[in-house]
Amino acid sequence: MIPAERPRIARGIFPTAAKKIPLGADPTVEYSLGIQQTPDKPLTLAQVKTPSAYNTYLKVGLPPTPIASPGLASLKAALSPEQTDYLYFVARYDGTHIFSRTLAEHQKAQARIQDGRAAQQNSKKLTKCRPAMASPSPLSLLQPRLVLESSILGLTSDILQYHGLKGLVLDVDETLIPTQAIEVSPELLQWLGNIKSNFSLWLVSNNLSRARISGVAKALDLPYLFGARKPSRKKIIQAVTAMDLPFQQVAMVGDRLFTDVIAGNRLGMFTILVEPMIDPSREAQSHPIRAFEVWVSQLLGTSLKSPE
Ligand SMILES: [Mg+2]
Repeated sequence: MIPAERPRIARGIFPTAAKKIPLGADPTVEYSLGIQQTPDKPLTLAQVKTPSAYNTYLKVGLPPTPIASPGLASLKAALSPEQTDYLYFVARYDGTHIFSRTLAEHQKAQARIQDGRAAQQNSKKLTKCRPAMASPSPLSLLQPRLVLESSILGLTSDILQYHGLKGLVLDVDETLIPTQAIEVSPELLQWLGNIKSNFSLWLVSNNLSRARISGVAKALDLPYLFGARKPSRKKIIQAVTAMDLPFQQVAMVGDRLFTDVIAGNRLGMFTILVEPMIDPSREAQSHPIRAFEVWVSQLLGTSLKSPE
């Protein structure tokens, strides 16, 4: 109880007792049972109905003796109660009370405190829960963050810095060189020269040939992992861990939605879809999987170009 409320509470108690209306004061029940209610453990109906000379829900008038040991301030307040019409009060559980003139007002005040208490409990329950991990929909896993309408040669430092990126996991086949190619192109080496000093780079290829991927990696002077089985995340995790960067600061760069983009999105990486590097002599051939990916990307509203 806060000191300022003592005279008002005294005003509530004595006229009620004099009017032979049951005082209905919880502390009298607590005193008779030798217990103390808390916000989490309020008095039960059974406790309130337990007969006792002190129980002011059951006995009209004041209890036979003071409950607990009133201090001087309470005794003084009892001798000079505040001159108001308030007859009812209900504890807010923070030491203060809501005072009411009528039973109807009082019941509303009780309901208000109970509602507030329930809301507090619910918000506690919610904060105890682990935040729900947003599970990406299958379609959003297919959405690259950036669709480059050119090969990887169009990916500049400015674009990467604009997106806050510090590292790149690079697919190899058709992202860096055509599938049948052995040599890296002078253009690719030049591109790499512009990128290399500012970004961590790893090659992560699905290709099962160590000889092929290690050859490309050696020509580019980059670390590599092969046989990655993207969209499996295992080897990409290995590369990003070696970079010592958070996943969202690393881009997965590749030419395929169903392997590179899905794998990167599953890890919360920035995903960049590039136009495939295709050997000019093989461009006329059909690319059924690529064609299907183009169809899917059109459904998703992205602008993957159809194979020539
Ligand atoms: Mg590829």
